[in-house]
Amino acid sequence: MRWSSSYIPTLKEAPSEAEVISHKLLLRAGMIRKLTSGVYSWLPFGLRALNKAANIVRKEMNAAGAQEILMPSVQPADLWEESGRWQKYGKELLRFKDRHDRDYCLGPTHEEVITDLLRNEVNSYRQLPINLYQIQTKFRDEIRPRFGLMRGREFLMKDGYSFDRNDEGADKSYWAMHKAYSNVFTNMALNFRPVEADSGSIGGNFSHEFMVLAETGEDTIAACTNWPQCTFAANVERCAINAPTHKDNSECPAMELVETPNKHTIEEVAEFLNVAPQKILKTLLFVADGKPVAALLRGDRELNLIKLTNLLHADEIEFATPEQVMQYTNAPVGFAGPHSLIGVETIIADHELLESNDWIAGANKNDMHVRHLSLHRDCKITQFADIRNAQEGDICPRCGNALEFKKGIEVGHVFKLGTKYSEAMHAVYVDENGKENTIIMGCYGIGVSRVVAACIEQNNDENGILFPPPLAPYEVIIINLDPKNQAVNEKCEELYTYCQEKNIDVLYDDREERPGVKFKDADLIGIPLQIIIGGKSLDKGVIEYKIRKLSEKKQIDAENSKSEFDKIYQEMLNAWK
Ligand code: ATP
Ligand code: MG
Repeated sequence: MRWSSSYIPTLKEAPSEAEVISHKLLLRAGMIRKLTSGVYSWLPFGLRALNKAANIVRKEMNAAGAQEILMPSVQPADLWEESGRWQKYGKELLRFKDRHDRDYCLGPTHEEVITDLLRNEVNSYRQLPINLYQIQTKFRDEIRPRFGLMRGREFLMKDGYSFDRNDEGADKSYWAMHKAYSNVFTNMALNFRPVEADSGSIGGNFSHEFMVLAETGEDTIAACTNWPQCTFAANVERCAINAPTHKDNSECPAMELVETPNKHTIEEVAEFLNVAPQKILKTLLFVADGKPVAALLRGDRELNLIKLTNLLHADEIEFATPEQVMQYTNAPVGFAGPHSLIGVETIIADHELLESNDWIAGANKNDMHVRHLSLHRDCKITQFADIRNAQEGDICPRCGNALEFKKGIEVGHVFKLGTKYSEAMHAVYVDENGKENTIIMGCYGIGVSRVVAACIEQNNDENGILFPPPLAPYEVIIINLDPKNQAVNEKCEELYTYCQEKNIDVLYDDREERPGVKFKDADLIGIPLQIIIGGKSLDKGVIEYKIRKLSEKKQIDAENSKSEFDKIYQEMLNAWK
């Protein structure tokens, strides 16, 4: 493509509404324009990146045996009534009526539509398994659309659905998609991690989020430093922590009261008694499904409410009110300890607490704490379990190497649905024995438009985008510094044609602009390989080039420019390996 006849409206400054780097660069590089809140048009240069992302997804889905379909974006309410989500989905679902006063919505996802499709098509076990996907525009009326493409209201998603006879088949489908997703993001040259997204408390892991690592990500993940030998990574809120290998079985001196006037917090008590916070027990009181519960942690740790809730199988869990604290401890908030609680039968201790048998804790008396509290001798602990948040310094629960904390952007999600929709919507098949069974489903999403934003969020510098070659709208840009110079034009045309012959996506900057403008634009739009052809250097028999990711300019021989080009094109690809 010649820049002079294409439409790439670059901007010197990003509009002030753009907060994050990808949003700024998408606007400045002339890739997208805003229509209304959370809704964007794709311009030619942007659309090329979007299509590249979609095609990489398509290729891997097809290779994994999934087949592409295209479902409508308008969906009738009846199907959502059947699944129970018409009520549950809330305001993210954009609802409207047609002229006959019938209810519809714009599809935020397609479980209902695909389940309806399949239940009308499939009746025999012989037709299963089936795996179908589409790449289609979704609408979610997000409460706070933000960060441009990252959280739009309208966005492009690949959503896929698998249908299997039994759990074994469904697991196979799940892991095939997991593998396909890893291939997708590897082939996009993105730095990513598949992250365990369920609590792990109910059997195997059947939900993974795929995260592109970027400092600006909204999610924090704990990832094993031994990647890729160990692939463990989990959302921090979901990261399991193993029981300690060392347990303290030593004798603890007799428990004694100490005065701690007005010292309520762990920090205040630690300072007052001149001990480290990790020597103090944190006793948190809750009411879970109407019953009081105490949770014990080391003073410097944070409780993980999801872990505690799962452990208790609780439907509802709330912090005890100051009145309830008074009732359970006979003291105001700040002096609770696990040894003489009133009417609290469930006491869950974080298993890390097994590492010591000598604690400082609240005394259940106003302005008092106790020293030398032994959890084994002085308390009735219901259970030692993993109930805290992972922190920097923790070790990988799978391999024991150090964990590191990274920020990530969720670009994909694979999920074993089981029979949630097939049961509600009666999607069944008849097996070999003539018996009716419910189909087991899985669903698999990739935010295709979010991938483009995440890619830029991960790959940029102060001058603009650094597109990895697989997602770059063009892989090569030929910059003509002297459009009035015959020899320069000829050289540019020669290499431009050569790239086209080799099926390399090439943009030829043939505009009548100053070199400075062209250099700035080329850096901004981030095409991985810049070929710079000017009169002065050509007179010396050389052509300059720059691999955008490596920044420094180098030279090749103008005489053998085609074979030299092959080499630097390879050099550019290698820079991304
Ligand atoms: P999030 O937690 O970010 O809202 P989600 O859990 O709602 O995501 P899914 O329903 O699993 O997302 O959708 C599949 C994929 O679609 C996500 O992994 C994400 O990449 C993308 N996606 C979801 N919501 C948006 C949005 N508002 N804008 C752009 N992409 C989105
Ligand atoms: Mg969401």
